[in-house]
Amino acid sequence: MADNSDDGNDRNDEPKDIGVTVKKSEDFSEWYQQIILKSEMIEYGPVSGCMIIRPYAYSIWEKIQNFTNREIKSMGIQNAYFPMLIPESLFNKEKEHVKGFSPEVAWVTQGGNSELPERLAIRPTSETIMYDSYSKWIRSWRDLPLRLNQWCNIVRWEFKHPIPFLRTREFLWQEGHTAFATKQEAEKEVFEILDLYRRIFEDLYAVPMLTGIKSENEKFAGALYTTSVETLFPNGKAIQGATSHLLGQNFSKLFNISFLDAEGNKQYVWQNSWGITTRTIGIMIGVHGDDKGLLIPPRVAPIHIAIIPILFEDSMDKVLRKCFEIKEGLSKTRYHEDHLNAIVDDSDDRPGYKFNHWELKGVPLRIELGPKDLEKHQAVLVRRDTGEKTIVKISEINEISKELLDDIQKNLYERSLKILNDSISKTDNLDDFKKLIEEKKTVLVPFCNNPECEDNIKAMTGAKSLNSPLDQKNNEMKCFSCNALTKTLFYFGRSY
Ligand SMILES: [Zn+2]
Repeated sequence: MADNSDDGNDRNDEPKDIGVTVKKSEDFSEWYQQIILKSEMIEYGPVSGCMIIRPYAYSIWEKIQNFTNREIKSMGIQNAYFPMLIPESLFNKEKEHVKGFSPEVAWVTQGGNSELPERLAIRPTSETIMYDSYSKWIRSWRDLPLRLNQWCNIVRWEFKHPIPFLRTREFLWQEGHTAFATKQEAEKEVFEILDLYRRIFEDLYAVPMLTGIKSENEKFAGALYTTSVETLFPNGKAIQGATSHLLGQNFSKLFNISFLDAEGNKQYVWQNSWGITTRTIGIMIGVHGDDKGLLIPPRVAPIHIAIIPILFEDSMDKVLRKCFEIKEGLSKTRYHEDHLNAIVDDSDDRPGYKFNHWELKGVPLRIELGPKDLEKHQAVLVRRDTGEKTIVKISEINEISKELLDDIQKNLYERSLKILNDSISKTDNLDDFKKLIEEKKTVLVPFCNNPECEDNIKAMTGAKSLNSPLDQKNNEMKCFSCNALTKTLFYFGRSY
């Protein structure tokens, strides 16, 4: 143990704020609201459903952007930017698409004091405005593939109760929109992007995912099919993580995105669209956070290590100097694509208060250093995930920190994977299904993929399909609800 029992500076005994006052297992929604505010991830904006993303959360989004940009650029995809305002006539060009989005579109009707001749949609997604340009840019097979991505904000006027990150009227995302000469090339990309999204969740956020294809009922409006990654919150509710769609030639025929192939024949392009949003941050919070606050996986943590000096009048300078020296050394240590980021908390608060504060903020590792540690050339490392303490030589602190952070990352993933696996049940009949849904399980069932059948299931149980796992090789089975023949299994659950 470290020699910190006497706790050091006793200047400020009163805590500045109170930690999380509810348990995650008792009231998930209240717990979630408290930790996102108290850890300084968000602030509520003046318009309901529009949140302010504070630097601590935004820096997580930047890490996702950096990783995604690196990956998609290496695939040959380029970034661009298209306008936020879409003329109504253009937006209305694709009927199914419009049907899917129109209840949620926010419209601009006025410029200054004068009414606009045509309403302008604030983009709920950018298919229509981007494909208008694509039809001008694509002429010959030499113009293909065209693979663009944009990072932007999106407005969808949700009427359900807003939940920061998880369901907001405005959010940030990337939307990729690509055009190919053949269906085969397009399909290859759909699954490469799906796998990229899976890696973002599993490797960066340490959140295990169910990867698969959405049902006819739940696919993107206007797509041939939609693939998705989905996961579960500890309260048993499922949540969609990201989607990658094969649009087929639906949009290219409407927007006349065509090309002359090598033989001089006119062909329509095959298209995809795919997106991942700031919702990912909310999923990470909901999956890993605990009764002490956030728990941020090291790969996306804005701060990897909080260094807490244990200060006494006579040794204060020496201890502080050493803390800053340690911080300096850590900042020169490579950690995956980054360097380690440590912070020295030299504020006047008591160490106990500081421990709570950095635990609330979910910093994955803490270093404690007091005068007696300094005499022994050692420090105490404390893991945020397990609370486990390790005493290490100061000369070895960079290497051991890295190892511990990787171990925390791994532990967070494995612990969530166990929860996910434990919550999945299998059945082939409706009675069991109803019971399992009441028990907040995710249920794997043979399902006919008929939209009417899914509507019935939803009306009866409140559950809907999540997705259908890839690479199934099943014999003929009967749909668990309507008895129609099927060869496909789907996950069902109650979801956000
Ligand atoms: Zn059915």
